[in-house]
Amino acid sequence: MDHPAPLVTRFAPSPNGRLHLGHALSAIVAHDLARAGGGRFLLRIEDIDGPRSRPELADEFRRDLEWLGLEWEEVPAQSTRLASYAAAAEGLRARGLIYPCTCTRSEIVAAGAAEGSDGLIYPGTCKHRPPDPDRPAAWRLDAERASAETGPLVWEDALAGPQPVNWAGLGDVVLVRKDLPASYHLAVTLDDAADGVTLVTRGADLFAASHVHRTLQALLGLPVPRWHHHRLLLDASGEKLAKQRGSPALAERRAAGEDGRLLAEQLRLQHLALGT
Ligand code: GLU
Ligand code: ZN
Repeated sequence: MDHPAPLVTRFAPSPNGRLHLGHALSAIVAHDLARAGGGRFLLRIEDIDGPRSRPELADEFRRDLEWLGLEWEEVPAQSTRLASYAAAAEGLRARGLIYPCTCTRSEIVAAGAAEGSDGLIYPGTCKHRPPDPDRPAAWRLDAERASAETGPLVWEDALAGPQPVNWAGLGDVVLVRKDLPASYHLAVTLDDAADGVTLVTRGADLFAASHVHRTLQALLGLPVPRWHHHRLLLDASGEKLAKQRGSPALAERRAAGEDGRLLAEQLRLQHLALGT
């Protein structure tokens, strides 16, 4: 008999800005999928973004989720897991799969880097030159070597179906930042595995990142989850709802006395109308 893996979803906000409607939708989708499947819904605070991270926001996030009527299990924040990131990076380094890069953003722009699906596509400047020991270095995945090692890979999105891993539009992404023992890509992949997440639920804006994460799972021998990238809420002018465009924070709506459970119901309806 087949024993399906228990369903585990998560919401993984970064405390470098307040939560907005788009975050609320991500949390609700992950929560509802877990509940519908008799599974677990986790909250993980992604608080390693050094200077931009404001720890006091984590408490605000918990109150926001409560206000929306959600229940969750909280797992340890990223700042408690730095040793596991460093160990994984060390392994990749020993296998020659990551290389140091001292480029600044303006140097990468000046080298003519094209805009890809996850920021600028790194033109590979540092790949073939010895590292300058006097400049701080990030560590980038050698995507060519990584793909050669893993062979063809596929990941499964609940809405979009099977996705062959495709590095076009990505390039050699950063796995270890200059100021941190991990980048988003490395930390989130290790954490989802450590937390037993079986369905990675997040907005469609992070779709391309899953090609990176699937590759890292293969390189690091991690279990492979499924993904559910939900459609993004749009504002009245059809633009993606973003905090930059001044949509009010959940905490402001909460403070103004709005009913969070009602808001959650409205978001569920909007989400259904989007076709999930
Ligand atoms: N921490 C990330 C963010 O706030 C989300 C990570 C994820 O869902 O994969 O954008
Ligand atoms: Zn470089």
